[in-house]
Amino acid sequence: METALKEEISRLTSLGLHRRCAEGDLERVAGLTLEINRLKKKKNAVICAHVYQTPDIILGIGDLVGDSYKLADDCRNAPADIIVFCGVHFMAETAKILNPSKKVYVPSINAGCSLSEAVTGADVRKLKADHPGLPVITYINTSAEVKAESDCIVTSANAEKILRKMYEKHDRVIFIPDRFMGVNLAKALGKTPGEDIILWNGTCIVHEHFDPGLIKVYKQKYPGLVALAHAECPSDLIAAVDFMGGTGDMMRYVENTNASAYLLVTECGFGELARIRFPEKNFIAMCRLCPYMKSITLGSVLALLKDPAPQEVTVPEAIAVRAKRSIEKMFELAA
Ligand code: SF4
Repeated sequence: METALKEEISRLTSLGLHRRCAEGDLERVAGLTLEINRLKKKKNAVICAHVYQTPDIILGIGDLVGDSYKLADDCRNAPADIIVFCGVHFMAETAKILNPSKKVYVPSINAGCSLSEAVTGADVRKLKADHPGLPVITYINTSAEVKAESDCIVTSANAEKILRKMYEKHDRVIFIPDRFMGVNLAKALGKTPGEDIILWNGTCIVHEHFDPGLIKVYKQKYPGLVALAHAECPSDLIAAVDFMGGTGDMMRYVENTNASAYLLVTECGFGELARIRFPEKNFIAMCRLCPYMKSITLGSVLALLKDPAPQEVTVPEAIAVRAKRSIEKMFELAA
């Protein structure tokens, strides 16, 4: 075995990746991460990895790692010529909008998102015509065209804070496209869905299917268990858990508490990362895979770095300028 490969295996082991690899698989993973990291350096590329990616991507090749908010923020000053986005298409579009001089790529043509696909620019124009004067607050999981039609973007990390600020100036707002998140936010803010907050019917195919009845079962089986759920889950599920938030909030909660066990109700990649970061803590599995996120692999990243042209993400300038305004509004209000 060549020295560089041995060193890569020990680097991945020091990051805890051996705990998530089947026996013998670490050598295969190390071969890929070694080649990707060499190519990345040669091409002056930076790799963004969302927390729903697999640990081999996050730990093995990720330079900027986090939730949608952190990655959008980090991409504003990404120190490279090329951004390879291991996340879904709307995230890469956001990176391109915020840093237009960079070339941005997604290593899979299947990295869509059910929420992003649930609403179009034409839908938002119709909503605005039906509710004149109401501000459009839009979850970041949307296309550039939808962002361009919006007044302010939010992520799960800052949606409640930004909505509170919006309600200081407006009695009613439009919130799109995640219906469940909209209902959860309305509840937290004491607002009535359909009246104070006009919602859209988008859902996340990962978070909409969790069974709230199982939370009780897990709590009985594991005394002291703390259940955390992502804000994209339906409100009956949220009512059954101890904490609701975005993935960044959930990770901080785990870090700063000492429960006997944690139930993480979200995409499986997040739980895998939490297990690696906190090996001394006990995690119970209740997760679902996002097929869009999981369409990216080390192999697809390597193929992209070898031949990036087909998967470049572009945004027409007229749309990018307007979309950037609504994203910048988020940074201003979330600060
Ligand atoms: S987990 Fe849900 S919201 Fe996130 S990318 Fe997948 S489908 Fe979209």
